[in-house]
Amino acid sequence: MPHVAELIAVGTELLLGSIANTDGQFLSQELSALGIAVYHHTVVGDNPGRLREAVELARSRADLIITTGGLGPTCDDLTKTVLAECFGKTLVYNEEAAQRMEAYLRRAGRAITPNNYQQAYLPEGCVPFQNDWGTAPGCGFEADEARVVMLPGPPSECQPMFRERAVPFLRDWTNGAIVSRTLHIFGMGESAVEDLLRDRMNSMVNPTLAPYAKEGEVELRLTARAENEAGARALVAPAEEELRGLLGELIYGVDGDNLEGVCLRLLKEQGLTLAAAESCTGGLMAKRITDLSGASAVFRGGVVSYWSEVKHSVLGVPQALLDTYGAVSEPVARAMAQGVRALTGADLGVSVTGVAGPDPDERGNPVGLVYVGLAWDGGDFVREVHATGPRGRIRQSAASHGFDLVRRRLTGLALEV
Ligand code: ATP
Repeated sequence: MPHVAELIAVGTELLLGSIANTDGQFLSQELSALGIAVYHHTVVGDNPGRLREAVELARSRADLIITTGGLGPTCDDLTKTVLAECFGKTLVYNEEAAQRMEAYLRRAGRAITPNNYQQAYLPEGCVPFQNDWGTAPGCGFEADEARVVMLPGPPSECQPMFRERAVPFLRDWTNGAIVSRTLHIFGMGESAVEDLLRDRMNSMVNPTLAPYAKEGEVELRLTARAENEAGARALVAPAEEELRGLLGELIYGVDGDNLEGVCLRLLKEQGLTLAAAESCTGGLMAKRITDLSGASAVFRGGVVSYWSEVKHSVLGVPQALLDTYGAVSEPVARAMAQGVRALTGADLGVSVTGVAGPDPDERGNPVGLVYVGLAWDGGDFVREVHATGPRGRIRQSAASHGFDLVRRRLTGLALEV
């Protein structure tokens, strides 16, 4: 009999629509990769009676109940109290959980209040899931034929705790080892990737192949199941090779990679520096690369040249180019990249100028038209991009194209896509 999980998200904020249930989305994806079916998601507020009803219903139709949220001191440990009651367990003090919570709060420079110790009470006989990413521990326990897993609400705690604590707790239910490998693709849209791979996706069973669209990029996740990890890896490797054969340089990274991280690594390896001249992205390229530690070794700085006057006076874009072609144009993107390179002394200058919307610019350029430029010692290149979606997506996509130009230049690939 395949195992069936039911997810219960606890939090009034979720019901009010203040936040989206992204923990549910994450857990559903992970459980499907583990071969555990999910038939129901429930969201309940911070209300013990309604949580109890949801748990009773879930245990009547699933053998794995996973809760998220309601573990912290502010909710009076609602989730633990109710779940323990439903399964006839008492809550017992867990010394290790208390010590870890104290150490975490001390490191974070936060005061320890008596109600913090509430969090160290866990259902008797459970496997504690120590929380290395926050304060409230989670846990897993067996009751009757079912298993219960409780995870904290914040995604930054829920996700690593699921992967690192709950998956080992469920290992004997997942028949051996599961290995996933995510390939990151930039430069081909989701529907084109799906068209290319549809037959394979439908016919592949082990590993399975699933695409995910993400901020103008596509991720392909290969997931294999085998008796042990080495066996699962051996199934993933040839499938990855095949995908690389089909998609080639469009695959820029694997697993936790992102475009700016790949650029940072390449710049470091080659001892080169970068600077950015940004218009419609308003500093997003600079933000994305400086979000990464180690950026100071390679990123010299950036100019947010939103006004044409600033493009001219700070970056030295010739006024004649601005007058003749307009700010959103190939010659201006080229001059911006050259300008920021000269201004900062960086080895590579990257530039972005475009129309993020929602309205066309004063010259009638359509929303989503973006020119992304790159200048280096002895050369330059401009890519014309037609991005789609709302303003935020167009800006992210434009910044990603900037990083894609950098990574292609540094790996000797063609700059066109
Ligand atoms: P904490 O250790 O922070 O007290 P908790 O387990 O008590 O964690 P909650 O107090 O229920 O969790 O929620 C804390 C925050 O976690 C929420 O404000 C919200 O930002 C996020 N969160 C909670 N549940 C979800 C969910 N299902 N999906 C996404 N985010 C969530």
